[in-house]
Amino acid sequence: MARMRKGQLPTKTCPICGRPFEWRKKWARDWERVIYCSERCQREARRRRVASTSAQSS
Ligand SMILES: [Zn+2]
Repeated sequence: MARMRKGQLPTKTCPICGRPFEWRKKWARDWERVIYCSERCQREARRRRVASTSAQSS
């Protein structure tokens, strides 16, 4: 049976700050859906999306 190495956590790259971030325990259920490294970046992304949406819709 293959054993997972400690420290070999999955990683993703945050599209907002461009930094890679590692799996965290609090994302255990949601890792598939996690896109941003932090709440801050998530908020920033939402802000940008809202801004670009409202800019397009006029
Ligand atoms: Zn980020």
